[in-house]
Amino acid sequence: MANSKYEYVKAFEQPDLLLPNTWIVVRIDGRGFHKFSNKYSFEKPNDRRALDLMNAAAKAVMTELPDIVIAYGISDEYSFVFHKSCALFERRSSKLVTTIVSTFTAYYVHLWASFFPETPLSAPLPSFDGRAVQYPSVQNLRDYMSWRQVDCHINNLYNTTFWALIQIGGLDAKSAEKELAGSLAADKNEILFSKFKINYNNEPEIYKKGSVVFRDIAQSKTQEENDRKRRAKARITVQHVDIIKDEFWERRPWLLS
Ligand code: ATP
Ligand code: ATP
Ligand code: MG
Ligand code: MG
Ligand code: MG
Ligand code: MG
Ligand code: MG
Repeated sequence: MANSKYEYVKAFEQPDLLLPNTWIVVRIDGRGFHKFSNKYSFEKPNDRRALDLMNAAAKAVMTELPDIVIAYGISDEYSFVFHKSCALFERRSSKLVTTIVSTFTAYYVHLWASFFPETPLSAPLPSFDGRAVQYPSVQNLRDYMSWRQVDCHINNLYNTTFWALIQIGGLDAKSAEKELAGSLAADKNEILFSKFKINYNNEPEIYKKGSVVFRDIAQSKTQEENDRKRRAKARITVQHVDIIKDEFWERRPWLLS
């Protein structure tokens, strides 16, 4: 196509290539979901339908983007991990982030009615922000995943105790917050058990551990191209398991190889 006199403006675009040979994590997070969760009367502390919807949207994203090796979700956030060899969009940060955010958001809205059949969406519609972070080693990546899962645990223990104090204990939010100020994990476990006969260990795994989404293939890696095709076809599964200990990764060597 012929150059126009306007084409020089293209030079104002800044390159945003992510470094080669690094694990790319795109983390998205719901905008104003505290308010959003009240608007649609999410059950507190954990609305199972809302988590199932997040997981369904994440599965759809992974189906459309075979370069994603694993994803991890809690609350209104999801982290998507691209393999360090990923060449999608020439590793342009803005293309990767915006594609994930818009694909996820589109599916979240599209699938809403299957999970909340009684409450249709109305404006303002749900939206998500996103960022890309790069990790140079598998250890750094594993530590990132561990960081998110520890966050899930800390938040869930707090929220479970906070809402038990309100819903069963009859406290108002201010008093519940005061009761928990400065408390350690052991204190919260004790409050749950002694006041409400709740054993935190028996809470559902999806709330305690979050959701791990990955392709379940039981074969070892062969040639790169075969592997890519096989990854694209493999069954995508959602599990609520520990990703901090070595076991999960050692049993699935294809994920980070
Ligand atoms: P921001 O726009 O800064 O992210 P936010 O209101 O979304 O603000 P977050 O820190 O992302 O704040 O927290 C998300 C909030 O959404 C949670 O604190 C909780 O109140 C609510 N939430 C998200 N998922 C669920 C769920 N499955 N069940 C109940 N509440 C949820
Ligand atoms: P990329 O993913 O790199 O953006 P692309 O196929 O979307 O690839 P674009 O340069 O964004 O390429 O061009 C969008 C293309 O979509 C147009 O070239 C045209 O073929 C098609 N298209 C978009 N809007 C319309 C429309 N309203 N009517 C007909 N075709 C359209
Ligand atoms: Mg936030
Ligand atoms: Mg949020
Ligand atoms: Mg959040
Ligand atoms: Mg284009
Ligand atoms: Mg286009």
